[in-house]
Amino acid sequence: MTWTTPPKMPESGQPASPLVELDHAAIQTGFSWDTARTELAGLPDGGLNIAFEAVDRWVAAGFGERIALRWLGKNSERREFSYADLARLSNRFAHLLDRLGVTPGERVCLLAGRIPELYISALGTLKAGAVFCPLFSAFGPEPVRVRLVKSQARVLVTTTRLYERKVRAQRHELSDLRHILLTDGGDESGLLPFHALLAAESDERNPPVTRPDDMALLHFTSGTTGTPKGAVHVHDAVVAHRLTGRLALDVRPGDIYWCTADPGWVTGVSYGIIAPLVIGATLVVDEAEFDARRWYAILEQERVNVWYTAPTAIRMLMKVGAAALQGRDLGALRFMASVGEPLNPEAVIWSRKVLGQPFHDTWWQTETGAIMIANTPGLAIRPGSMGQPLPGIEAAIVRRRADGGVDVLEPDEQGELALRVGWPSLFRDYLGDPDRYRQCFAGDWYLSGDLARCDAEGYFWFVGRADDVIKTAGHLIGPFEVESALLEHPAVAEAGMIGKPDEFAGQIIKAFVALKPGYEPGDALRKELLGFARTRLGPAVAPRELEFMADLPKTRSGKIMRRLLRARELGLPLGDLSTLEGEAPSGPVGMVAE
Ligand code: ATP
Ligand code: MG
Repeated sequence: MTWTTPPKMPESGQPASPLVELDHAAIQTGFSWDTARTELAGLPDGGLNIAFEAVDRWVAAGFGERIALRWLGKNSERREFSYADLARLSNRFAHLLDRLGVTPGERVCLLAGRIPELYISALGTLKAGAVFCPLFSAFGPEPVRVRLVKSQARVLVTTTRLYERKVRAQRHELSDLRHILLTDGGDESGLLPFHALLAAESDERNPPVTRPDDMALLHFTSGTTGTPKGAVHVHDAVVAHRLTGRLALDVRPGDIYWCTADPGWVTGVSYGIIAPLVIGATLVVDEAEFDARRWYAILEQERVNVWYTAPTAIRMLMKVGAAALQGRDLGALRFMASVGEPLNPEAVIWSRKVLGQPFHDTWWQTETGAIMIANTPGLAIRPGSMGQPLPGIEAAIVRRRADGGVDVLEPDEQGELALRVGWPSLFRDYLGDPDRYRQCFAGDWYLSGDLARCDAEGYFWFVGRADDVIKTAGHLIGPFEVESALLEHPAVAEAGMIGKPDEFAGQIIKAFVALKPGYEPGDALRKELLGFARTRLGPAVAPRELEFMADLPKTRSGKIMRRLLRARELGLPLGDLSTLEGEAPSGPVGMVAE
C-alpha cells in the first residue's frame, strides 16, 4: 500500500494536537484511509513507524510525563512507565539491536509473560526497523522451536526459566538465532544480560527510517483449525490500529485501558500495545492469570475506562457468579468489548444485568490485523451479532465459484465472510507459504474462512468456521447457534458441537458440555439438555448426542478446538496440538483474543 497524500506534519514540526476528537459522523460518511493517515504524525518523506507513533510522537507533543504503562505484577508489585520512559528505553533497545548486528526486516522473537521488558522490546524492535514476533510464554519446547525456526529469529528475548525449560535443549537446531537476551540473567557464553546491555546504551536516537510497507510484525495464528500460520504485517497497519481503537473500542486520549489478551497473540499486540498507545491512553497490564476476583478488583482499583476481553473469560466470570463482584464499584467503566470467539447472546444479556452494561462483540483475525466488524458505541446491539463493518471496511457474504471468482449473496443467505482488500492492516504474506497466502484471495476479495450471514439492516451474524460447519439431513448448521442455545440453560458453562457421520442423516450433531459449579453430570440432566436444545432449535438442528466433560479442549488463547473434539470422537489423528491449552498455567487471556 502506498501513500496517495503525504502524512501531515504541522508547520511547527510538532504533530497535530493529540487531543483532537474524531468526528464519528463525518468519518462514517466521508471516510478515506488517507484521511485516517493524517491523524498520525508520520515521518519525513512519507516514512511511518508504529513505535514512533506509539510513544515518541507524544513526547514530542509535550505529553511525555503521561503514564503509558501501569504494570501490575503477580505478587502485587506495581510499576509505572511514562511515555517518555518508554521512548527512552525503547531507544536503548533499538541501539542494542544495531549493536548486535540486527538488520532491518530481521525477526526478534519474544518469549516471556506479560513483563515490562516485553513492551520495551516490542517498541525498540519496531524502531530499529526489525520485525517483532511474540511467542506465547506457555508454549512447550516444540511449539517454541517450530516458531523460532519458521520465523528465522535472529534474536530471542526471554527469561532464564523459560530459556532453560523451552530453548536450551534445542538451541543447536536454531541456526538462524544469533543472540539470546535474558531479562533476569545472562552471564553464560552466548546468553546476554538484557538489563546490563540496555544500561550501556543511549537514551537518544534519531527517528526511525521505516516505510509504510516495511514488515513490522509477525504473528502466528491461534492454530484452532490446523498448523499455525505466520501472518506478516507492515508499519502501515498502525493507521488501522489507531482508527479501530477509537471507533470500535472507544479508547480516548487519557483513558485507562485494559486489554486482557496476552501479547503472544495478535489482540495483545494490536490492542494490548499499539492502538491504546497511539491514541494516548494508559495501558493496564496484569502479569497474573485469570482470576475473577482479581479482575473485578483491577477494574475497580485502576478505574479502568475501557475493557477488551474474550468470550471464554466472560463465560468464566459467568460461571463464577455475581458474588465475586459484590461490593465492587465499576463506575469508571465506560465501554466493554470482546473478541476471539462468538459472543453468545446470553453473555450480552448477563453483562447488562450483572455489570450494568453490555459487552460489544468485535470480529477480526490475525490476518486482518485490526477489528473489521464491530458493535460500535453508537450502534444498537443485536445480541448474537458481530455488528457492522467499520468505516473503510467493505464486508460481504460470498460463495466461491468454480472459476475462482465469487458471487456476492443476498441478505440473510449464509456464505463465506469476505472483505474487499485495501485496508492498511491486511496481512501481506504467510511467511514461507506464499501459495497458501494467494489462496486466501479471489479477485479483490480476501476470503476469511468463516461462515456468516448479513441481515437486511447490515448486521453480520457469525455461523462458524468453514471447517466446523456440518451438514445434517440437508441443513447446513454452524456451531454458534447450537452452542448458544445450550448456553442459555442455567447448568451449562461451556458447549462445543461437532458433526458425526450418520447413515441416514449424513451427519448428526453431538454436543459436548461442561457444567457450572453445583451441577452434576447424569442421565437425567443429559436428557433435559437435549430436550431443552430441541425446544429451542427444532429437531433438525438440535444435538442428538451429548457428552459431559470437565472442560472443553481449548487453544491457549481460549478458543474451543472443535477439530480435537471431532478427532477424539472419530478416532482420527489429533493433528497439530502446539496451541492446545495444557497443564501449564494459562487463562483465557488471548484472542484471537483472539
Ligand atoms: P487458525 O487460523 O490457526 O485456525 P484462528 O483462526 O483461531 O486459528 P485467530 O486469527 O487468532 O486464529 O482467530 C481468528 C478467528 O477467531 C476468526 O476467523 C473467527 O473464526 C474467530 N473469531 C474472532 N472473533 C470472533 C467473533 N467476534 N465472533 C466469532 N468468531 C470470532
Ligand atoms: Mg484463522
